[in-house]
Amino acid sequence: MDNCIFCKIIKKEIPSKKLYEDDEMIAFWDINPQAPHHFLVVPKKHVASVAALEEADDKLAGKILRLGARLAKENNVGDFRVVFNNGPLAGQEVFHMHMHILGGRRLGSFA
Ligand code: AMP
Ligand code: ZN
Repeated sequence: MDNCIFCKIIKKEIPSKKLYEDDEMIAFWDINPQAPHHFLVVPKKHVASVAALEEADDKLAGKILRLGARLAKENNVGDFRVVFNNGPLAGQEVFHMHMHILGGRRLGSFA
């Protein structure tokens, strides 16, 4: 996708503070962290949002969760929250699906 900031990060057209990469996924620290540890796990395939996932993406959807948990452990995040924002009213700003992992402080209850 031409104007997608995360596709540009994946193509290395924009720098990122990367913590992980393989042929399907990339993970990097959020540029505007909302907790002491805040990183994003992003599938390299451009899927606009969780709502746009298809059955063929089931493996990808499973992998993103397990990878996030593994990276949280490897980076000593401790307890963490997993967030997928889906749609503008839910706070989604980048329309390339991504998983937030947040930790390093006591996280308040939702809403
Ligand atoms: P969302 O609001 O769920 O779409 O999340 C988008 C996230 O991407 C926000 O937490 C931003 O701070 C983060 N973000 C935007 N641009 C960059 C970037 N160039 N590098 C790292 N994180 C970014
Ligand atoms: Zn994209």
